[in-house]
Amino acid sequence: LNLENKPKQFFAYKGIIVHSISRHELEIINPGVLIVDEDGTIVETGKDVDFHSYPNVIIHDFKQKIICPGFIDLHLHLPQYEFVGLGSEQLLSWLKKYTFPAEKRYEDEAHARAAIEVFFNELLHYGTTTAAVYPTIHRKSTDLAFGYAAHSGIRLIMGKVNMDQNAPDFLLQDIEQNVSETLDLIDKWHGFNDGQLQYAVTPRFAITCSSDLLTELSAIAKDKNTYIQSHLAENRDELKSVKTIHKNHDSYTHIYADHGLLSSKTLMAHCIYLSDEEIDLIKETNTTPVHCPTSNRFLQSGIFPLREFESKGINFGIGTDVAGGYEISLLHEMKEVIEMGKMYNILNYTNPQPTITMEEVMYYGTLGGAIAIGQEDRLGNFQKGKEADFIVLDDDTINPYHEFDNYQTVSDRLYRLIYRSSKESIQSVFIKGKRIR
Ligand SMILES: [Zn+2]
Repeated sequence: LNLENKPKQFFAYKGIIVHSISRHELEIINPGVLIVDEDGTIVETGKDVDFHSYPNVIIHDFKQKIICPGFIDLHLHLPQYEFVGLGSEQLLSWLKKYTFPAEKRYEDEAHARAAIEVFFNELLHYGTTTAAVYPTIHRKSTDLAFGYAAHSGIRLIMGKVNMDQNAPDFLLQDIEQNVSETLDLIDKWHGFNDGQLQYAVTPRFAITCSSDLLTELSAIAKDKNTYIQSHLAENRDELKSVKTIHKNHDSYTHIYADHGLLSSKTLMAHCIYLSDEEIDLIKETNTTPVHCPTSNRFLQSGIFPLREFESKGINFGIGTDVAGGYEISLLHEMKEVIEMGKMYNILNYTNPQPTITMEEVMYYGTLGGAIAIGQEDRLGNFQKGKEADFIVLDDDTINPYHEFDNYQTVSDRLYRLIYRSSKESIQSVFIKGKRIR
């Protein structure tokens, strides 16, 4: 067998191709074909593909199923999936009652192993191919999570959680331990798997981190060129508490800015209660806010002023924020982005904003997310040269009258998938051309 002369292997995926070109433009190719090479790179997307160019091609025909880019979830917490949907408290008491005790259990390696496996399998089941995740403070459980993520094939931005104050003793580490364990994990995992795994330095939020710890973490992120992720201005009681803990800063956003933690590689969850000056700071530093509407309602936090960020040209991503959010599904989160926009209009009826559309939420969950993490050269849509992360959507079971034909445009079907999807709505998941499920 002469491997040198073996013609390059291609894969053709036929179906209805849907992907974002820009915030308001969703390209629909019906019927369409996605051609992927043996390295998992997209070589062509179109309607009329000349198969003579691909003598060695394996064809998968998904017929009338919709093929779209894999979803990008830019904020969720691994250890919280165990108690997803529980609690009626607001943020600070909810953390005490549910989150901190659950995170303590990750000291136990056997528990961590089992829970990690469930978490990543569920994420992939729901079509999330890239995720920004918070594990716990523990070095070992974070290491196990990176290991399982590498094995599963998912793309991941993650880093051990850092806290040195204002949390139960069992979740606090001194600065030295936070720093040394963070550095260990960066050395082992940052850029692993051809860049599919990325480290994010993860100060939980300003309340649980001293100024000295924030300074150290900022230096590490710069030195090692990692992502940074944290929480900002989520809840009114949190704002009050932050003010008493970090006194010498102009605002909550300035706490992070003054420590050098805002950058084009920074993801800040929530960003609900920001002054105009703070929003300008987000814009100047190219920081990415992450909108988590399900969580913001579940924990009675507030409403992200989406149109305001958009009008200032700030790129943001969306996140399920499990378990502040009670679904791990990005299709569900897209629905909540639309619904929360409607809630904003109900409360601001004298100055309503344009209703958020299906095209926009598809963008936020795919190409917009890729832009937010600076990976739009690899991810987000089906442009030639990008890596083939895609999912096949099955809407047969969610249309109660599927034998009738009145609401079957691709746009109708996408709205229905966003509003009525279940786990079964994701038929297949591919990452870098490799079938994951
Ligand atoms: Zn969170």
